[in-house]
Amino acid sequence: MSVLLHELHLEHAEKRPDTTAIVFEERRLTYQQVEEQSNRLAHALADRRIEAGDRIALLLPKCPEAVVAMLAVMKVGAIYVPLDPASPTARLGKVIASCEPAIILAGGVKADVAIEVSRICTAPLAWMGPGPAPEKLQPAFSPNDTYSPATSPLERKVSPTDPAHILFTSGSTGQPKGVVITHAMVAEFITWANGYFGTTEQDKVSGHSPLFFDLSTFDIYGALAAGAELHMVPPNANLLPHKLADFIRRSKLTQWFSVPSILNYMAKFDVIEEDDFPSLQRILWCGEVFPTAALRHWMQKLPKIRFTNLYGPTEATIASSYYTLPCCPADDREEVPIGTACAGEELMVLDDRLERVAPGGVGDLYIAGVGLSPGYWRNPEASRAAFLEHEGGRIYKTGDLAKVDESGLFYYLGRADSQIKSRGYRIELGEIETALHSLDFLRECAVVAIDTGGFEGHTICCAYAVQENVSTAPPAIKARLRQLIPPYMIPSRWLCLDELPKTPNGKIHRPALRERFQAEMNA
Ligand code: AMP
Repeated sequence: MSVLLHELHLEHAEKRPDTTAIVFEERRLTYQQVEEQSNRLAHALADRRIEAGDRIALLLPKCPEAVVAMLAVMKVGAIYVPLDPASPTARLGKVIASCEPAIILAGGVKADVAIEVSRICTAPLAWMGPGPAPEKLQPAFSPNDTYSPATSPLERKVSPTDPAHILFTSGSTGQPKGVVITHAMVAEFITWANGYFGTTEQDKVSGHSPLFFDLSTFDIYGALAAGAELHMVPPNANLLPHKLADFIRRSKLTQWFSVPSILNYMAKFDVIEEDDFPSLQRILWCGEVFPTAALRHWMQKLPKIRFTNLYGPTEATIASSYYTLPCCPADDREEVPIGTACAGEELMVLDDRLERVAPGGVGDLYIAGVGLSPGYWRNPEASRAAFLEHEGGRIYKTGDLAKVDESGLFYYLGRADSQIKSRGYRIELGEIETALHSLDFLRECAVVAIDTGGFEGHTICCAYAVQENVSTAPPAIKARLRQLIPPYMIPSRWLCLDELPKTPNGKIHRPALRERFQAEMNA
């Protein structure tokens, strides 16, 4: 198998050109079409003088064109940066300013989103379709018009250690952090995962995660490397449990992979029949804890299916450890381990002096091995803080607390900082607070999260005090926040106080706030 992400599908494009590679709504792209279309776009980018190492931002929702764009960018040796089209322009602007794209490839987004982005960015914007560019947008070019007729591969030298993409995640200071991901990092995981799960050309795998989330790279490159069919979940099914269940049935999926919130949601709405989804062979999840009660619901309904918990941060590529359940947990309180390291990776529970904690003891979880990112994009300080030298190699400090048992199985025990997961999204509470602090009518504010164990994961709660002579209600604050941070970061619980509670040394008393919100939620 090639270790270059834009070459993983080549063998299948040559041997089985007419087989389906990607399915999205009514559309299908064959392996040959994927290859030809990405070659044509690569030529169009090369004609625009895109050089190796240039960044190209993708303002595209999950769709086949986005995969074609990713492959084309890598074919010219450039680095793609998927943007979240649902993010407000102010936040997109921070990502764009950081990665300085040479071009933005846009398409399939609302006209005002594309117009706003082209306004804040000096780089030219190309319109990828479907359909003509929105009227008021004047794209610098449209690859559909200027596509070079050449469908032959472009001759550019790309090395496995070159960056393939940069994924921006929430940053505690309010500045999103770009995790640099190389070709080899993803290819190593795909090789292990496709071998472990036995993925073949017969497989039909789900594409549920958004493109700016690293789980999607497993969906896309795992499927393309195996010659399987990638079935992208349409936006109208994304959050509706019965539609998702229908989608799995109709698409005859063999593999489902998502964050647990989705599976939790489907369990809650009881949309799975006994022995449902006859084609489905395995369900994988990653990104947060899958509550054992919901997992048991699934396992009892689908006793013939293999259930695997994958664990890992973006900085160590998709997942670093795995645990396939040997049988259904006996009760809802049973802890499900995050398992053991994937091939080429190592998990370590270390103390403050970076010494190993004995089995059973709690410590910080570190990761070493083939999945480790070279660091954060143009952020040496954050890179130095997270990627450390240890015993002659590099380790990544996950920020997770963990323990390992006598048999070598690892268990996730929560976070050591204020990073949370809400509906599967990785969020630094500091990013929300930074946005709130920029609102001039607030005197004080603090954001805390409560783990409700439900579909949402963590509930985001905001306590605030307003400036004198100002009266403002949560809807007005939310409206301002929506211009600064993505919808999934907007707090859902609000508390207006005269003054926020303080600790004896004058800091905001977050445990007291958490208790207060918890009490309200229990009431
Ligand atoms: P992300 O970079 O979005 O993948 O988020 C990484 C973080 O998600 C990890 O550091 C953990 O806190 C959490 N996480 C990932 N996978 C799991 C899992 N299987 N169980 C519990 N937490 C997880």
